[in-house]
Order: sequence, then structure tokens, then C-alpha cells
Amino acid sequence: MLIATNSVVAIHYTLTDTEGEVLDASGPGQPLVYLHGAGNLIPGLEHALLGRTAGDNLSVSIAPSDAYGERIPDLVQQVPRDLFGEGQELALGMRFSGNTPQGPINVTITAIEGDEITLDGNHPMAGRTLHFEVTVDAVRKATEDELLHCHVHGAGCQH
Ligand code: ZN
Repeated sequence: MLIATNSVVAIHYTLTDTEGEVLDASGPGQPLVYLHGAGNLIPGLEHALLGRTAGDNLSVSIAPSDAYGERIPDLVQQVPRDLFGEGQELALGMRFSGNTPQGPINVTITAIEGDEITLDGNHPMAGRTLHFEVTVDAVRKATEDELLHCHVHGAGCQH
């Protein structure tokens, strides 16, 4: 069976950056299972998997525009420490979610200089070209329920 819209696909993958550093990988015997065509994966990876079948191996490099987008400088801002609650410990790399007029946003602390805290609202992988080594483990048709919910059902599903 070939991967198409509404296929449920299991893949093993290793994600590296352009220097070959491993950023993420599926665990041994624990493939990532996703619903094809529902935006569950980054666009570049879904595109590369279209028409593939179980047992296929692929090696694909994905530009930021087809992955997590370009970095947006305006999403980096300095805020005063007072903005955080009294006694709130702050450290580099800490993540917070906050609400903005444009909707919820996740930010990461990228610098702390005295009372000035730098928050970065970009996705940690924004602006990076991503390299995936993928093996297609299995392909099946999605069930009616899965299509309705836009995700795969199985072990661990909260229904
Ligand atoms: Zn569901």
C-alpha cells in the first residue's frame, strides 16, 4: 500500500542538523505513527513520504520554509524581571507559555542580564535546515474515527 492522504503511517526516523548532530529520533521498536495529510508532520517530510511504501528508506533535507519556518527577529524581546512572579526562579532555556493579542505563544529564555530577560518566541528549530533518515515501517488506511479526529488512535489514546 502506498502512502497517500488518510494513510496511517509508522516511520522510524533520525533527525540531524546540517552538522550531523542528532536532534531527535524515534526510539528502538517505537516508530512514530501519524495520519498522512492532516498536518501532523512538517510539510517537507509529509511531501517526501507521499507515494512511499513499507520498507522504503529515504534521506531528505528540508529547508526551514518546509519545516518550522524562518526565524522571526520580532519574536525576540527583552522584558523586565518584574514581569515574572516574586520568587520565580529563572534560568536559560526555561520555557513559558503566554498569551498575546495574536494568540498563545511559547517562549524560551535565551539571555539573562541583570533585571533584563530575553524571551524568544521562535520555535527552537526555526531557521534550521533539517535532515531526516527515514524508514517506512507500516502503512494502513485510517478508520472513520481517526479521520474525524485528525489523529491516529491506538495504545495511549484518551477516549
Ligand atoms: Zn481521537
